[in-house]
Amino acid sequence: MAISFEPSEATKQARAHFHSIAREQLRPISRRYDDQEHDLPTEWVDWYWRNGRGQAPQVDGPSDGFVQVCVQTEELCWGDAGLYLRTPFAGLGGSAVLAAGNSEQKQRFLSVFQGDGHPVWGAMAITEPQAGSDSANIQTTAERDGDDWVLNGTKIFCTGGEGASQIEGGFVVVWATIDRSAGRGGIKAFVVPAGTKGMTLVGLENKLGIRASDTATLRFENCRVPTGNLLGSAEVHKKGANKDAKAKGGGKGFKGAMATFDASRPIVAAMAVGVGRAALDCVLETLDREGATPRYDAPPTEQTALERDVIEMEAELQAARLLTWRAAAMMNQGRPNNLEASMAKAKAGLAVTHITQKAVELLGPGGYSKKLLVEKWMRDAKINDIFEGTQQINQLIVARRILDYPSGMLR
Ligand SMILES: Cc1cc2nc3c(=O)[nH]c(=O)nc-3n(C[C@H](O)[C@H](O)[C@H](O)COP(=O)(O)OP(=O)(O)OC[C@H]3O[C@@H](n4cnc5c(N)ncnc54)[C@H](O)[C@@H]3O)c2cc1C
Repeated sequence: MAISFEPSEATKQARAHFHSIAREQLRPISRRYDDQEHDLPTEWVDWYWRNGRGQAPQVDGPSDGFVQVCVQTEELCWGDAGLYLRTPFAGLGGSAVLAAGNSEQKQRFLSVFQGDGHPVWGAMAITEPQAGSDSANIQTTAERDGDDWVLNGTKIFCTGGEGASQIEGGFVVVWATIDRSAGRGGIKAFVVPAGTKGMTLVGLENKLGIRASDTATLRFENCRVPTGNLLGSAEVHKKGANKDAKAKGGGKGFKGAMATFDASRPIVAAMAVGVGRAALDCVLETLDREGATPRYDAPPTEQTALERDVIEMEAELQAARLLTWRAAAMMNQGRPNNLEASMAKAKAGLAVTHITQKAVELLGPGGYSKKLLVEKWMRDAKINDIFEGTQQINQLIVARRILDYPSGMLR
C-alpha cells in the first residue's frame, strides 16, 4: 500500500479556506460567547447557514474526502471549538442516521440540512445519569404501541440538544432499550424530531469549556415516534445468540450506532488538534515577537528548556494529527478503522490537554490572563478527553483490538 502524508491540492485549498473563516468569523466572537454561555451566536449561525454550507467536502466523495472533513474541523476549532459545536449541522445525530438509517430515513431527516429554510441542528442522546462509559446500561425505554414507539427516560449532556430538540426540522437520535433482559442487544436508536410531544428540554449545563456549545438535559415522557423512526431493525438478539442469527437481522442496532464512533472519533481528534495548534501558534508568535524563536535544529546539549518544551508540543501535535488522518483515510477507503479511530482520539485528547497547559505555563501571567485566549483553550481542551469515549475507554478499545479480546474479557 502506498503511504502518502501529503494532503491533496483540494485538501490544501479547503485548509486555507476554512482557516480564513476561522480567523474572520470565529476568533472575533470567541471570547464573547465563552462569557455569555447560553446565548445563541446568531452572527456565526446565520453566516454559516448562508455561506458555509455546501462548502463542506462530502464524506463519501472522491480521494481524501474524510481527511478533508478532519482538516476543516481542525481549522474551525483553531478558530473556536465551542462555536464549531454550535454550528447548524446534523452532528452526531446525522452520523447515526448515515451509519444505521435506510435511504428513506436519510432523505427524510438529512435533506433539511441542504434546504433553503432556517438553520437546523441534529444531536445524539446516549448518556444518562447511570450510563456514560457503560452505554449498555441505558435505562431509557422504548415500548411498541401500535404504529409507534413510546420513549421514557432522561438524557444528559446532549451536545446541540437545545437546537436539535427545539428548532423545527432538527432531530435528536435517542438510544433506548426495547428489552432490558437482552443487554446491548436490546438497545436501539430512535430519531425524535424537534418539537415532538413528550420531549422536554429540562436545562443546559454550565461548563468549564466549550461554553458556546449547548449541552442539554432532555426528558422523554410518553414520547411517541412512528416505527419508521427506528434506525435499523427491531429484532433483538439476546446474549449468546449465534452469529448467523445476528447477521440475518438487527445487526444495525447497537452495533450500527456504535459504528458512528468510528467516524466521529477522528473528528473529535481533529477538534483537539485544532485547539492544540491554536495554543502552540500563540506561543510561537509570542516567542517570535520577543526574539526567542525556538531553534529546532539546536543539538540537545545546547537546547534551552523552553526550546525542548516547544519541540515536544510540536511533536505531540503532529503525532496526533497523523493518527487522525490515518483513521480518516481508512474510513475513506471503506476499511475498518475502529482501532485507529480510538488511537487517534486517545492520543489527541492527551496531546491537547498537555499542549494547552504548557502554553499557559510558558506564556506566564499573559497565559493565565483573559487578555489572551490561551486560558480558554486550556479549558476547551479537556472535553476532547471525555466525550466520544473517555481517554480510559479509548485505551481499553485499543487494548482489546490489539490483543483481540472481546469486550467481556477486557473491561
Ligand atoms: C460537554 C459534554 C458534552 C457531551 N456530549 C454528549 C452527547 O452529545 N451525547 C451523549 O450521549 N453524551 C455526551 N456527553 C457525555 C460523555 O460522552 C460522557 O460524559 C462520557 O462518555 C463519560 O461518561 P460519564 O460522564 O458517565 O463518566 P463515567 O463513565 O462514570 O466515567 C468516570 C471515569 O471513570 C472512567 N471509567 C469508566 N469506565 C471505565 C473502565 N471500564 N475502565 C477504566 N476507566 C473507566 C472514565 O474514563 C472516567 O474517567 C458529553 C459530555 C460532556 C462533558
